[in-house]
This record gives sequence, structure tokens and C-alpha cells, in this order.
Amino acid sequence: MNSPSAILIDRFGRKHDYLRISLTERCNLRCFYCMPEEGIALRPREDFMRTEEILSLAGTFVEMGVRKIRPTGGEPLIRKDAAEVITGLGRLPIELAITTNGVLADRFIDVFRQAGLRSVNVSLDSLRPQRMAAISRRDYFDRIMANIMLMKDSGFHVKVNMVVMRGTNDDEVTDFIEWTRHETLHVRFIEFMPFDGNRWDWDKGVGLDEMLLRTVERFGATGFERLTDSPNDTARNFRLKGGKGTFAIISSVTNPFCDTCNRIRLTADGKLKNCLFSNSETDLLTALRRGEDIRPLIRASVLDKKAVRAGMNSFEELSDPALHGVNRSMVSIGG
Ligand code: SAM
Ligand code: SF4
Repeated sequence: MNSPSAILIDRFGRKHDYLRISLTERCNLRCFYCMPEEGIALRPREDFMRTEEILSLAGTFVEMGVRKIRPTGGEPLIRKDAAEVITGLGRLPIELAITTNGVLADRFIDVFRQAGLRSVNVSLDSLRPQRMAAISRRDYFDRIMANIMLMKDSGFHVKVNMVVMRGTNDDEVTDFIEWTRHETLHVRFIEFMPFDGNRWDWDKGVGLDEMLLRTVERFGATGFERLTDSPNDTARNFRLKGGKGTFAIISSVTNPFCDTCNRIRLTADGKLKNCLFSNSETDLLTALRRGEDIRPLIRASVLDKKAVRAGMNSFEELSDPALHGVNRSMVSIGG
């Protein structure tokens, strides 16, 4: 049991029990909204957490009240020792999930199972092979799609994440919803978010209201139903009437869900970020390597968390490159 002081509660009463850990900044895709075409600058291996360091840091977070861990990246499954990390995390008393682009997922089915991992988020931005290749700058559509189906048929809870971008793939939102009619898949539409270097402009974004309007146009106002969201859910959840799967909208831009946020993030180089949009980071890896107690650092970071989007309270502030442009790109934060 945790002592109450170990539980990571911030100044706004939010309890942080969900940790996302980036296993690598590197990726086998180059989604244009996330990564530059040439990839990211290589840094020395010593800058990044080793397996035992990930497991040690994760263990401390669990002692302090973390109950759910999600490896992410970059692409977590391209890490050479990904299986070892996932297996090690699976020994902790937590709910384990993962976010992946799906390209290598078939090689990990047994590892996931043995680690007790039941829930997999896979990114897929188009149902059209050529379009997916243009967005991700790599030609892996068939593998990703086959792996989504393989994981679903193997009994995993599969969520498919689509970043919705105007003029790129927004005409497919309702096709993705139609897909959930006959498949036990959970599609989530993510509003396009600003990060360093992704040339963000909300003209390219499509918000919650517009996505709902298009859903009504295609399926009718009574063709789908609102579902009850679970606590700390970042998405508004829906289902087509009689549909096997569900769909959801994650509206970090137009309707942030910060008041119930329970997340903290550890970057691949061992920095703690208390918010996806925050540019301040706490270096846990250096402290760990020096043999220091990292718990006061973790507590201080959580206490420093702002009420909304790292202090970017309004849409105007979020849209200001001087504010959002100093944040890392998603690929190096760990999405
Ligand atoms: N490579 C894995 C994947 O693609 O699922 C995990 C890392 S990726 C950075 C995590 C999630 O962040 C993906 O669903 C991706 O689509 C999303 N993402 C990346 N950049 C984004 C942006 N600018 N706006 C919204 N979502 C973004
Ligand atoms: Fe790689 Fe995921 Fe970023 Fe795409 S969204 S470039 S798959 S890290």
C-alpha cells in the first residue's frame, strides 16, 4: 500500500497514476505531422535509458502510486530489447498497454500475452494504402492492417488512432466509423496538435464539433449513440447503433480534458514531463545514475503541473508558435 504522501497528487487535486514511457525517439515510419523526413538527429546511446534503468524508474513510479504504464515512442517495438522491457514492466503490479504503429506487432503477440498486456493502440491515418504511404512516407499499409486484424482476432483490445487533418484524410472520418459497424475495433479521432517543427496551423485541423456534424450527416442523429466515458478518459465515446466496435474523439485542441488528467510522461532520455504540452522537464536519468533519490524530483514536477495545457489556457495561446514551438516534437516526447 502507498502512504498518502507517496501518491502523486498535484495542486489541483489530480491524482497521477498513469505513466507513459518512451522507449525510443526513433521510428520506422516518418508521419509528416510527427517526424521530419530525414528522421531525427542521432544522439549517443548513453543519453538514453537502458532496460534496467527503465525498470528501476518505473518501479519507483509504481511505489509512488502509478497503476498504469504505456510504452510508446517513437516506435517502441523497434527498440532491440523491446521484448525485455515489456516483459519486465509486465512483472509490476500495473495495467500494461502499448502504443505502436503496428508494423512489427505480429512478432510481439506472445510477448504481449506473457506480459499480461491486453490493450494495444495502433496508429492508422488512412484506410487507403497510397494515402497512408504518403502520410507516413513509408509503404507498410498491408502489414499494419494485417497486424490490426491479427491482434483483434488474438483477443487484444485494439484502439486505432487517426490524426484528422483537413485536406489530407478528413474525408475518411465517417469511413473509419463505418468500419466499426462490423469489426470489434475502437477508432479514435485525434485533433491535430501543434509541436516543434510540425508547421502546425489550425486551418489543417478538424475539431470535435465538425467531426460530429459529419457523423450526423452520414449516419443521422439517431444512427449512433453516446457512451459513458470512463473516469480520466481523454475521449468522448460513441457507437453506431448495433455496431460491434466504438468510435471516439480526442479533442486536446478545441476541448481539452485537463481537469481529469492523470498522466505523466517519461522521455526516452529519462526526463519527466508533467504535461504533453510542457517544455519544462525534470532529468530523472542523471539523478538515478548519480545514485540520488528521485522521489522528491518526481513530487516537485507533479506539484508544478499547470491547470491547463502547460499554461496555454486559451486556443489563442496554444496557436502561438512562440509558446507551443518551444516544446519537443511528439516523436521525442513519446505520444
Ligand atoms: N509510433 C507509435 C504510434 O504511431 O502509434 C507511438 C508514438 S506516436 C508519437 C503516438 C501517437 O501520437 C500516435 O497516435 C500519433 O498519431 C500521435 N501524434 C503524433 N503527432 C501528433 C500531432 N501533431 N497531433 C496529434 N497526434 C499526434
Ligand atoms: Fe513514428 Fe508514430 Fe510518429 Fe508516425 S506517429 S512518425 S509511427 S512515432
